[in-house]
Amino acid sequence: MSIPFTHLDKLYIDGHWVPTTDYEAVLNPATEAVIGHAPVGDKSTAEAAIAAARHAFDHGPWPLMSMHERAGYLRRLHAALVAEREAIAALIIAEVGCSQGVTYGMQVDMPLGHVLTAIDQSLNGEPRQIATHAAPNPFNPGGPLLLGGGSIEREPIGVVAGITGYNFPFLLNLAKVFPALLAGNTLVLKPSPFTPYSALLFGQLAEKIGLPAGVLNIITGGPQIGALLSSDPRVDMVSFTGSEAVGISIMSQAAPTLKRVHLELGGKSALIVRADADVQTAAMAAVGGLTVNAGQGCALLTRFVVHESIRAPFMQIAQAIASQIKVGDPADPTVMMGPLIRESQRAKVQGFIDRGRESGARLVCGGGRPADLKRGFFSELTLFDDVRNDMEIAQEEIFGPVGVTIGFETDEQALAIANDSRFGLNGGIFTADAATGLHMARRIRAGSVYLNGGGGQMPYAPIGGFKRSGIGREFGPDWLKEFTQEKSIIYPIGR
Ligand code: NAD
Repeated sequence: MSIPFTHLDKLYIDGHWVPTTDYEAVLNPATEAVIGHAPVGDKSTAEAAIAAARHAFDHGPWPLMSMHERAGYLRRLHAALVAEREAIAALIIAEVGCSQGVTYGMQVDMPLGHVLTAIDQSLNGEPRQIATHAAPNPFNPGGPLLLGGGSIEREPIGVVAGITGYNFPFLLNLAKVFPALLAGNTLVLKPSPFTPYSALLFGQLAEKIGLPAGVLNIITGGPQIGALLSSDPRVDMVSFTGSEAVGISIMSQAAPTLKRVHLELGGKSALIVRADADVQTAAMAAVGGLTVNAGQGCALLTRFVVHESIRAPFMQIAQAIASQIKVGDPADPTVMMGPLIRESQRAKVQGFIDRGRESGARLVCGGGRPADLKRGFFSELTLFDDVRNDMEIAQEEIFGPVGVTIGFETDEQALAIANDSRFGLNGGIFTADAATGLHMARRIRAGSVYLNGGGGQMPYAPIGGFKRSGIGREFGPDWLKEFTQEKSIIYPIGR
């Protein structure tokens, strides 16, 4: 059976499908089967994509349209995506190897709901008036006072390069396309080479709804194409979602041309479980989080900071839950956890597990490949106990289904451990004392904190990183500010 959107074998540039000379096999990570041969962009196609976006910004109607007009296009794009919900989910299941429950809920429906909120909120950002002010004329200080006023407007930044990772590819691409375009920018989107079709599908639907040529351009390829986009003087902003290491490269590549840089990077987020917490609920949340896309999630809570008085039952329950997680090919709807994206990622995760054992942490369960899965890049759900926070497995983003447990005695210790990380993306606290939990949440240096598991899907909540987890925010009421800049227009009044 052919996987939806894998027929897309050209790049989407200036409203046309442009052939390439190079192609790359895209694998289903659960079966290692080739799902398609995706086009791979090169220097000349990347140059063409940038030129098209530049032209569409400098000479096209898009940046000058009213927000209402652009929102109309994006509502149509949204409706076209919603109509393809099943096809998009089928693609993600095959391209990422993500379980069906997580794919429908978190990879497709949640982001589609959130961007609708963003479209609605975008219509509130009308120009603001500067207060009328009477002041002496600096060129005629003794003369009559001058009366002045003006407006503060938000304008697009220009040409944006959106560079994205593989783990939630549809969500990450959606989170570049919608805010960048709504705000009046034009975009060159470059997805991960592991998940090219989750980006190319936007070209198919942009064409379908008649988006003006050059407003959205999609170029595939690896680091060279990303480096070209982030260093080109015609690109005004890079919005990047990916690893800390590549985020650092992007900042330095962008520096000579002083572009605006928006970075959504990795994490090693702590889940604090206080002595008064419901151990069963906390253990369920801890293990459940690891199963989300097999631990390949930036904001997952993978460091369990557990009060010493309940650490033993927490581990016991966590281990029991882990033993019930069905791992396998997510084409099977009963599978709860799929594979890692490629063999290289599986080997990297295995290296962390092996070094974790050598460093003295106690392996509670997992630790290798599932014995019954002969094909696919699978890694067992792995739990470590007796972990010290200075160990590599407690400090590095493993990006696999590996959870580490660190004990604590006092709230101050728990907060110190949670904050002893160079990352600051997310956090969590389980406690029966919600007020103390809130107070502690305020002291966790991270862009978000889930108190007692959070409150479901929150379309108004921004996400983003403190410290080395990033610069800027996605989603939330101020999302479009990332993709716009203020302009003051000042004029005299009364003459
Ligand atoms: P990655 O950093 O390896 O790659 C991301 C993108 O950058 C890809 O498109 C890649 O081709 C491109 N790239 C690589 N080198 C480049 C260079 N020198 N210049 C420009 N572009 C370059 O990330 P990944 O492995 O695909 O994704 C996983 C990472 O993404 C994890 O660290 C995860 O935490 C992070 N992530 C963060 C968020 C967030 O919102 N904070 C969300 C999802 C994923």
